[in-house]
Amino acid sequence: EVAVLRLGHRAGRDERTTTHVGLTARALGADRAVLAGAGGSRSETIEDITNRFGGPFSVEVTDEPQAYVKDWDGTIVHLTMYGLPIQELEAEVRQAVGTTEQGKQRGSDLLIVVGAEKVSFELYEQADYNVAITNQPHSEIASLAVFLDRLFDGSELDREWVDAEQTVLPRQEGKQVEER
Ligand code: SAM
Repeated sequence: EVAVLRLGHRAGRDERTTTHVGLTARALGADRAVLAGAGGSRSETIEDITNRFGGPFSVEVTDEPQAYVKDWDGTIVHLTMYGLPIQELEAEVRQAVGTTEQGKQRGSDLLIVVGAEKVSFELYEQADYNVAITNQPHSEIASLAVFLDRLFDGSELDREWVDAEQTVLPRQEGKQVEER
């Protein structure tokens, strides 16, 4: 299983960002989003998209993110601009998690942690890998997208969706949606 933990959420300011962390996790191959604290308010929006466009994908809310990380039985990746470059770590992470070329996993479960504002120093120590998508400051959504794409080596783009009410039919022009 690949889960994404969204740490921290500033009410008002982070609504769209937390939603987009969840939607990006879903679209790009993770199995679950875990929203900490006030970020839990975004769970319905993410579940609604899953109901409409398919799964499997689940959303969980936790009021104790520290305990969640501590109790995680598997590999932990913390995405941070202060970490080691993804291009140096990706082979090792893929091996630990056992991602195959088809994007399936045979190794340990993976928790990917992204922050909102400052993340506690403890997390840097708890993480098996502190991974930087460049050492430049940018965004949790962008770093998550690049990380997942490297983890699955592009295979997530071909993922099939189950139980979708709506499926977009790719078109060069216009919008075509198939309703179930
Ligand atoms: N200054 C903040 C800090 O000290 O962590 C960064 C806040 S940043 C807006 C929010 C989140 O985006 C971070 O917690 C991290 O997960 C992610 N992030 C931002 N830049 C990143 C980068 N270059 N590589 C990996 N993750 C990044």
